[in-house]
Amino acid sequence: MEYVELGKTGVRIPEIGLGTWGYTGGVEPLQTGISLGASLIDTAEAYGTEGAVGEAILHMRDRVFIATKVSPSHFKHDEVISAAENSLKRLGTDYLDLYQLHWPNPAIPIEETMAAMDQLVSDGKIRFIGVSNFSVAQIEEAQAATENKIVSNQVRYSLADRAVEKDVIPYCRDSGVTVIAYTPLARGIGNIKAKLSHGALETVAQATGKTEVQVALNWCTTEANVVAIPKSDSSDHTRENCDASGWRLSPEQLGLLAEAR
Ligand code: NAP
Repeated sequence: MEYVELGKTGVRIPEIGLGTWGYTGGVEPLQTGISLGASLIDTAEAYGTEGAVGEAILHMRDRVFIATKVSPSHFKHDEVISAAENSLKRLGTDYLDLYQLHWPNPAIPIEETMAAMDQLVSDGKIRFIGVSNFSVAQIEEAQAATENKIVSNQVRYSLADRAVEKDVIPYCRDSGVTVIAYTPLARGIGNIKAKLSHGALETVAQATGKTEVQVALNWCTTEANVVAIPKSDSSDHTRENCDASGWRLSPEQLGLLAEAR
């Protein structure tokens, strides 16, 4: 597993983490991922999977980097604080490594929400602040409202959905913000193959000796500031996903995939 720096924090996170939206795999697939170095686990108060994550990381808290999210309906100051406390309880830990604003909420002043996030940092309940589904302008507004650095933006990114390449990824690269690519398999490799012109993924998979899933995940992490968080309920899939790290697509292979969209 390759690791990259989270923002400019000096903390290293794996290129491939473990998503848990809709996760029903029990403790084993998550523990398999952790043992293979996929120590970043992504969850959210909205997913209903924080309890499952808590069970999987029992007795190995110090080996994992827990990322969870506060829902936009809880962006008022005191609600952010109690949402974090509830997440801590469900996860069975006394600190969150990364606490992310799940989606922007224009109905609540960002200053109010970020003041609560700052308080959580000061109180030692969260280590780092992240956002999710934020545009460049929204990151800038949130950054201006906090004394801490926003270290990550979690956005939808895969070979089937490259919208964030236009401005979000370059902005994040230039500002020291890590991009966490969600839905990196487009919820199923068939959805990626359906978007690419015939045979490109298969050709690159054959040339690299990797699977199509591994090519799709490795492609997401081509930019140095991007990590991917596929979700898998199966240990075999998780092993396959972890082997998407530790090697690189060649410029020719990247070119072939770029032309195929
Ligand atoms: P995804 O990771 O793109 O796709 C998940 C699907 O791919 C599952 O059906 C899974 O099946 C399958 N899969 C995984 N590994 C596979 C493999 N090696 N071979 C074949 N199939 C494989 O979709 P996602 O769950 O939407 O996104 C990943 C994570 O991103 C989420 O779990 C969540 O943590 C995060 N997310 C965040 C947001 C946000 O707003 N911030 C939104 C959506 C998602 P099995 O389970 O059977 O392995």
